Amino acid sequence: MSVLRMLPPVHRLLAQPSIATLSESLGHQVVAEGIRLVLETIRKELLDGSRVSISPEEAAGMVVAHLTQKERPQIRAVINATGIILHTNLGRSPLAPTAARAAYDAGRGYLNLEMDLESGKRSSRQTPVRKLITRLTGAESATAVNNCAAATILTLRVLAQGKEVILSRGQLIEIGGSFRMPDIMSASGAILKEVGTTNITRIGDYEKAIGPNTGALMRVHTSNFKVVGFTKEVSLAELVELGKKHNLPVIDDAGSGAIHDPTPYGLKGEPIPQEAMRLGAAVTLFSGDKLLGGPQAGIIAGTRYWIERIEKDPLMRAFRCDKMTLAALEETLRIHLDPDRARKELPVLAMLSADITDLENRARSLGGRMLNMGLDALVSVDHAFVGGGTLPEERIPTWTIRITPHRGQRADDIAKKLRTGEPAVVARIDTGKIVIDPRTVFTDQEQPLLDTLNRVINHRPDSLAPVTVSG
Ligand SMILES: *Cc1c(COP(=O)(O)O)cnc(C)c1O
Repeated sequence: MSVLRMLPPVHRLLAQPSIATLSESLGHQVVAEGIRLVLETIRKELLDGSRVSISPEEAAGMVVAHLTQKERPQIRAVINATGIILHTNLGRSPLAPTAARAAYDAGRGYLNLEMDLESGKRSSRQTPVRKLITRLTGAESATAVNNCAAATILTLRVLAQGKEVILSRGQLIEIGGSFRMPDIMSASGAILKEVGTTNITRIGDYEKAIGPNTGALMRVHTSNFKVVGFTKEVSLAELVELGKKHNLPVIDDAGSGAIHDPTPYGLKGEPIPQEAMRLGAAVTLFSGDKLLGGPQAGIIAGTRYWIERIEKDPLMRAFRCDKMTLAALEETLRIHLDPDRARKELPVLAMLSADITDLENRARSLGGRMLNMGLDALVSVDHAFVGGGTLPEERIPTWTIRITPHRGQRADDIAKKLRTGEPAVVARIDTGKIVIDPRTVFTDQEQPLLDTLNRVINHRPDSLAPVTVSG
């Protein structure tokens, strides 16, 4: 039992400078608990002979390593080296710095969220977003909720609760997660009336389906799949014309809602909200964090008549955005007022419109630095995917670096170590290689990315090596 005399007492560890510093940031309680866990591990190791000695400094080092690992935030920044610009699992759209700043400021203090500062009277939190969306899209009015799924449920409920909504079988989409059009429809209380077939739906199909209980006509953008070959879809213009004839509102679920047409960057056929408004759709719905490049939100733009009714629905309260989202959204929309600013300052649009020669140069420079580190890195032309769950079919040309693991290493082991590294790096794996796409890597992340690769693949010691602690 005498080996246990080597165990440093808790108070001695607490007095070690490195631990005292940690106590200031994490709090005494958390640190004391960490010390107990580490001492327990050391005690077991001394008893079973797997450890023969321990000094207070050594124990303190283990405590610091353990706490740094265990108590670091669970939600942390990740370097996205996948090239997938709208990566749903990685938070979809990174914000413009000024939009992130607006959210930060809104979070830290008080703000005129629902107060008109001129009159001192209560105002709507939707006013700033409404003003900017109407300017950008030409809509009469607009409002914002938590996401496009909420926007869809709310809109269907207000426009067509208990009534039939006519939708093409070719547009009965599942977006992923639990967004499936038939389920969204029934959750809203509207009745789905399917028309046409998977590949062909004609305007006559909609017209035949119109009856005394029809509430609305709907168009859903098939954002995550393509039907090719013998196909026919009714245009929004035709649908609006039919709606006018029968006095029925047309709901346009646009999904991404590209304020600036992304066709020049290789994204064809993305619905443009301005277009839906010009054509006369009652409402158009789109996400805040897809091609808009802002925070998670669902925008409902449309006629004053319908927006007023939507805002009066009790679900509006349940779906409304918080102050940080609204602050970031306002700033994002403000950036969109100028297309050049939007392309430069909104990361999603900057990445989407990145010049292919610039990407090649960045890939070559990164690849060269990797070779210098002793990695087997090959630079080549490749394809980037715009979205994970959002626009997964859309590919744009890019340049990537393919790293062949050292002998005896497996690509998926390396990928895991990269993900759990500091900073965390998420890369693609393709046929046994680690693929790095600079398109989604911010330039100030290049050096940290190289450092993580060096540590993980070349086994350079990681200063935050986890200590295994039982219990
Ligand atoms: C993405 C998408 C949605 C869901 O939007 P969220 O903001 O993720 O809720 C709805 N409809 C379409 C057509 C979409 O592309």
